[in-house]
Amino acid sequence: MVEDCVFCKIVRGYIKVRFIYENDSFLSFPDNNPKTIGHSLIIPKKHFETFLDIPSSLGMELIDCIKKTSLKLMQENNCGGFNILNNNFSVAGQVVKHFHVHILPRKNGDGVVLLE
Ligand code: AMP
Ligand code: ZN
Repeated sequence: MVEDCVFCKIVRGYIKVRFIYENDSFLSFPDNNPKTIGHSLIIPKKHFETFLDIPSSLGMELIDCIKKTSLKLMQENNCGGFNILNNNFSVAGQVVKHFHVHILPRKNGDGVVLLE
């Protein structure tokens, strides 16, 4: 636990969020400033700063959490697809220094432009 880390506070329950999915090492919850309908985040329960710090042994659990979360979000929001996004280090747009994956559910005509 890192004292001033907002995502560590979510893991510990000090900040209440709705869990979308969780397994032993990861959990997901809605982003509080959503860029698309259902925009959500996946975080490790242990504090790691970037993708480079995530032990490769957690790869299966990370993929499991991404898949289960994305499927649930598509169903809940009646979306036909989703984007997976992960910012690493400030220069790439990382604001919260606790590794996280963005899941952006997508609908036709939602106007979101990422990589084209
Ligand atoms: P990033 O720019 O990749 O570091 O994204 C950080 C994300 O965390 C942003 O989309 C924020 O809206 C989101 N965020 C920050 N604090 C919270 C919180 N307490 N609950 C939910 N999402 C949060
Ligand atoms: Zn943390």
